[in-house]
Amino acid sequence: MNPVIPLLINPKAGSLFRSGLKAWLDSHRSDFRLVPTESAEDLTAKARMLAESGEPVVAAAGGDGTLMCAAQGLIGTQAALGILPCGTMNVFSRELGIGSRRFDTALAAMRGQVRQEVDIFTVNGKPFLQMAGFGPDASIIRRITPRMKRRLGAASHIVTGLQVAVEHHPIITVTLPDGEQVCGTQVILGNGKRYGGEGHLFANARYDDGLLDAAIIQLESTGILFEVISYMLMRGATERNTTDFTQLRQFDSCTITAEDTLDYQLDGDYAGTLKPGETAVITRESSPLRICVPEIPEPVTHFGRLMAHPVLETMRKQIERVKETMTTWD
Ligand SMILES: [Mg+2]
Repeated sequence: MNPVIPLLINPKAGSLFRSGLKAWLDSHRSDFRLVPTESAEDLTAKARMLAESGEPVVAAAGGDGTLMCAAQGLIGTQAALGILPCGTMNVFSRELGIGSRRFDTALAAMRGQVRQEVDIFTVNGKPFLQMAGFGPDASIIRRITPRMKRRLGAASHIVTGLQVAVEHHPIITVTLPDGEQVCGTQVILGNGKRYGGEGHLFANARYDDGLLDAAIIQLESTGILFEVISYMLMRGATERNTTDFTQLRQFDSCTITAEDTLDYQLDGDYAGTLKPGETAVITRESSPLRICVPEIPEPVTHFGRLMAHPVLETMRKQIERVKETMTTWD
């Protein structure tokens, strides 16, 4: 018989219902032992406890933010992280070939033997799995309230983007290990290729090369800044595909400072604001995290890519919400 996998889960999370995971779990009761969590800290603590008790696989249900909390508990242990991707974008799980909301694929990966090692980088001690952003992208995220996210989904980024567009953006200085300094108004650090949904920002990034890929973009106008980011998302940021405004670098550590207050985000969640004179120190953890991945990655079709477009994603969520309301009435 297959061993029962401990599953960290927030029983109250709306995403459980929206993503269909609740119903899927009802038909897979014998595969998992549910470990309810109450907060991000609780999730991290329980992940560590399970890993230290010798569990070979510790599973977590949620989006990128939740996975990061679980990962934090597993860093430096022997346990592999199993992912049930039921969040909004599920960027990390798409990149690892588990796909978004493909729970059968996810379970097969946990039951299988393939483990992908993933570098873990931290910003002032806080780890991230997929990407970190310093500048307007983080300011947008800071402004998005949970209510907005529920009502507008991915479109909430566009609404707050317009607010951020009219603000002044401080010059950010990135200092590399060799002493080189690169300046910009938006800095994006990528552990993998994707930056939101299916968009591949860093065409050549790898999770296990010990390096972060960085795009340092120097633009006064936020409107043009986002145009440059979407251009790179369409083509992948390689030396050939970037404009004069963008510098690409790879490094295993750096420091970031800014002339004025600077917001930053980790894996799409607002993570803090640097004050003038404060420094963000980016370093790599000494041991990588192990993740359960499928033997054959979930293929990403052109249709799948299209369906991950923020506008379609929002429409899909509206439909899901209506369905949810209807089932509550039953
Ligand atoms: Mg890398």
